[in-house]
Parts: sequence; structure tokens; C-alpha cells
Amino acid sequence: MVEFLGSERRTHYCGDLRASNIGETVCVMGWVKKKRNIGSLVFVDLRDRSGIVQLAFDENTASEVFEKAASLKSEFVVSASGVVRERSSKNPELPTGDIEIFASSVRVLGESETPPFDITDDCKANEELRLRHRYLDLRRPALQNNIIFRSKVAKSVRDYLCDIGFIELETPMLIKSTPEGARDYLVPSRVHKGSFYALPQSPQLYKQLSMVAGFDKYFQLARCFRDEDLRADRQPEFTQIDMEMSFVDTDDVLAVGEGLIKHVFKDCLGVDIPTPLPRYTFRECMERFGSDKPDLRFGMEIINISDAVKDCGFPVFASAVEAGGSVRALNLKGYADKLTRKDIDRLGDYAKGCGAKGLAWVKHADTDSGSFLKHVSEDELNAIYAATDCEKGDVLLILADSDNNRVLTQLGQLRVEAANRLGVERSGFNFLWVVEMPFFEFDNESGEWVAMHHPFTAPLDECVEYLDSDKGKVRAKAYDLVLNGIELSSGSIRITDPKLQAKIFGLLGLSDEEAMIKFGYLLEAFRYGAPPHGGMAIGLDRLVMQMLGVQSLRDVVAFPKMQNAKELMTDCPAEVPAESVAELGITFVKEEKEPKE
Ligand code: ASP
Repeated sequence: MVEFLGSERRTHYCGDLRASNIGETVCVMGWVKKKRNIGSLVFVDLRDRSGIVQLAFDENTASEVFEKAASLKSEFVVSASGVVRERSSKNPELPTGDIEIFASSVRVLGESETPPFDITDDCKANEELRLRHRYLDLRRPALQNNIIFRSKVAKSVRDYLCDIGFIELETPMLIKSTPEGARDYLVPSRVHKGSFYALPQSPQLYKQLSMVAGFDKYFQLARCFRDEDLRADRQPEFTQIDMEMSFVDTDDVLAVGEGLIKHVFKDCLGVDIPTPLPRYTFRECMERFGSDKPDLRFGMEIINISDAVKDCGFPVFASAVEAGGSVRALNLKGYADKLTRKDIDRLGDYAKGCGAKGLAWVKHADTDSGSFLKHVSEDELNAIYAATDCEKGDVLLILADSDNNRVLTQLGQLRVEAANRLGVERSGFNFLWVVEMPFFEFDNESGEWVAMHHPFTAPLDECVEYLDSDKGKVRAKAYDLVLNGIELSSGSIRITDPKLQAKIFGLLGLSDEEAMIKFGYLLEAFRYGAPPHGGMAIGLDRLVMQMLGVQSLRDVVAFPKMQNAKELMTDCPAEVPAESVAELGITFVKEEKEPKE
């Protein structure tokens, strides 16, 4: 039977009790994790968010209390009072393992049916079942601790930013669409039928307008929504540590970003992140690591061997260089013994999966072996070894392509895959800034140039002259923060000159009229004194995930969605009554199903 709390009040969290509390009368409240009934003894492990404590009942316990204790079941919510005493058999596994509460009263505050799965960290129940009962899964200490850690990170972020003069400002959730490169979630207006709000992909324009308004330093732990085809490491809604500041250039924004990272890592993990963080230009990242988010916890840099092979006898190499492309290599130093032929074949298949035509390789040993040795002379092979610092015991993986970016990207992917396969040791937190990102990128699907970051990003001053003549050459005052091969943040210095902004819209294919309809309010605001400003947004979910070293966003989001954007617990998205839809002025066009043959 469920009882009322009455005047009883909790004195301690279960996990906080220690030997120093022996002799104290305490009251704890929590969930029954386990009950053991051994004849004249009953032991109950009581769990709350802080940990577990043992309640003990024995022959000296009043009989009605003993009976109640004996009738408790898993996940009952219980309040227990009693005296803390030393345990006769201590449990070194448990922080509270030296003591137990000799309970003189127990109340059942909430009964529980048998839960659909065991609430333990080694529970093997499938994820769907656990997501359907997320509130139970969240009782698991590991998951609960992740969420509590996330709260600590959020507080640490707030502390740091508020201390250096940032103002937390809430921007609206129902907005006019803000482009960040994904599809918007739309919310129909009932009052203005046929019109829609969008849920923010980011508070980008509001934070810029708050600079025009004079707030000078803004931040927000902002919920953002992007309607994308979800990949494993995405959620349709996520949180960003969104920042914007006035009267700054790139150096100032990066200083705030790395100061924040340093503070949060020290505060929440006790880890020192050395600052300033290294900076690499986008071009350098691509040339050396074949990625704009390189994992620098290991070397294996890409080496351009085009000069060494341009006249060699292997047509694949020579023709790639002749066509304006390049030949690039990875030197897996000292791995000749460890990498089997099968491993190399698998890497070859992987490279093909990335779009490479084929993987050339050579193992430098007493007797060399490789895929192209019969096509090259000894001198030509030695030239390759010299160019790659290849010594006996090393393996070279080589790709060639008539397109430089393609060969770099493919080799960048191969670099990570080879490190995975070889089990290359990667530990710690490796941060870097990627700066001077390209302004435009060519979208093969639409055949148009699109903004790589977003259209409010300022081009580098020295690149403005190429805006009309050579878009591929324009670099931006845009930067990414990368941690262990993952893009954690992006940001930029913004355009504040209405004329330049109008020009950029034009270059991105927006007519003056379209630009006015979409962003007229921003252009107008800039006519009334816009301070130079810039900012960035750090993905909070990803940051916490990296700090905890967990594999999935679902481990750091309290109520996550599945990969197909469904939330299983509440079963959403869900149909709504026809009247609700009609009220919005919306009619569905039923998709005709093909009749079955
Ligand atoms: N709004 C950008 C983003 O969400 C970040 C920024 O430019 O500040 O990626």
C-alpha cells in the first residue's frame, strides 16, 4: 500500500553516507534496487541518484517493519529511517560499503510493477525497449551520471561566460526560417492560415541582431532543430553553446572559445587543456590529413609524391599527375610485419568504397612486395621511398587521382580507417582550430556555389577581390573547433556592411527581392549602426559525449530520438485529430498507395 510522506523528511542521499555517519539517525528515500531475504535478516539496496546504501532489518526490528521490508519489491519507492551502523561484512565495491542503515521504519511511497528490463548498467535488453521506457533506463547509474555530468558542464559554461561579461539571452523558438544548410521544421500558424513559423536551426540572426541592439556579448544554451536524414551521430534537436560578441576579430573569438574549453575541462574533469590551441588553415588540414576535421592524436600524414612519380613507368601514377591531379601516400611506419595481405586488401576495398579507383601499396622489407613493383624501376622505387621517408619495415598506401581534392579526401578517410584497423593508440583530448575555411563550396547536385558556413560570414579582406572572378579562391573569416577528429564548433566573423551582404546574397543566387523578403530585417538593422561582430556555436551534446568518452549522443541526451527521428516513449511524431489540422487551414493530400498486384 502506498503511504503518505507525512512529516518525514529526507536527511541524506543514499550514496553520501559514510563511516563518519555511524551512530546518526538518518532518513533516506529512493528505489529498491535489490532485496535479499535470508530468514531472520532482510537486506535492501536502496538507490537514488547519488548511489546505493544498504538497509538492514533483523530480529531486533519491530515485526511490522520487518514484514513490510520483507514484502518490498524491485523499484518500489521507499522511505527508510534508522541508525547508521558499521557493516559486519563490508563491500569494498560500494562507496557506502562500510556501513548500513539499521532501519526502524519503512514506508512505501510508490509501488512498482516488475520492470520490463533489469535496471543495471550491464543490462542486455534491446535499445528499443529501453527507449520506450526511458525513465527506467535513466535510473541506470551510468546513464544518470552522464546526464548529471552534462548539467555540471552546462553550469560550468554559464559560470565562465557570465564571469567574463556575457549575457544570457533567450531567442524565440517560433521564428522565420534561418538557413544553416538543413531543412527546417515548420510549425503552421492557426491565426495566419497558410503561414508557417520555423523552429530555429540556430539563433544566428537573433544573436547578430542582439549585437546591433548593443548587448555586446551574448550566449545561450540554445536548442536547435534540423530536419535532416539522420545519421548515427545526429539528433533532430540538439543544444549549442551559442555565442556572439561585438568589436572583435577572429583572434578574440578564438580566445573566448579556448578559454571556455580550458575552464570546462578543468572544472568538470580536472584535465588541463594547453592553450592557445594549435591553428591550422583549412588548406593545410586537407593537404596533410585529407580532412577539415583531422584527428591529430596520431601522425600518418599524407605525403605528396607526385614529383617523385610523375615520369615513372606506372601509368596510373604518371597519368594522374599529367591530368593535373596528384599521387599521395601514407607511410604506415613499422607496420610491415603487422599488416597482412588480407588487411591490405580490406583497406583497398575500403578505399574503393570511398570512391578511389584502386589502392597501390608497397611493403618495404628485405624483399619488397607491392602492387605496382613490376611497373617501376629500382631507381623509381627508391625515389618513392626517399619522398616518403620509407624505411625497411614500413608500408606505403598510395592513391592517385586526376582531382586533387578527391585524392586527399579519400586518403584522409583511409588514414583514419588504417589507424582503426591497426589499433593505433589514440588517447587524450586533441583540440585544434581550423581557420580560413573556404567561403563557397560547389554543390554538385544543384550545380551552384553555396556558402560553406552561412551567408552572413565575412570573406577574408584579401579575398574580396575574387568574389566575382574566382569563387573557389575566396576564403572566409570562418573557423571550426575540432576535437579528436570531430567538428565541435563552427563560427565566423560576420558581414556588417549591408552592401557586401547584398552582394553575397546575389552571388549565392538570391535576387535583391528574395533577399529582402527573407532577410530584409537584417539588412535594415545593419543600416542603423552595426558593430563589427562574430561568434561561434559549440555543440554541447558532442562536447559532453567526448568528455565522457561515450559512443552515442543517446548516452548524453535525457530524452533522445531514434535515428528515424521518432521518440519511442511518447510515440511521436503522432497523428493529430482531423479537426486540429483543419483548424490550421491545412488539408492532407493522401498518398495513393500502388494497388497490390
Ligand atoms: N550558427 C552557426 C552554427 O550553428 C554558428 C555560428 O556561426 O556562430 O553552426
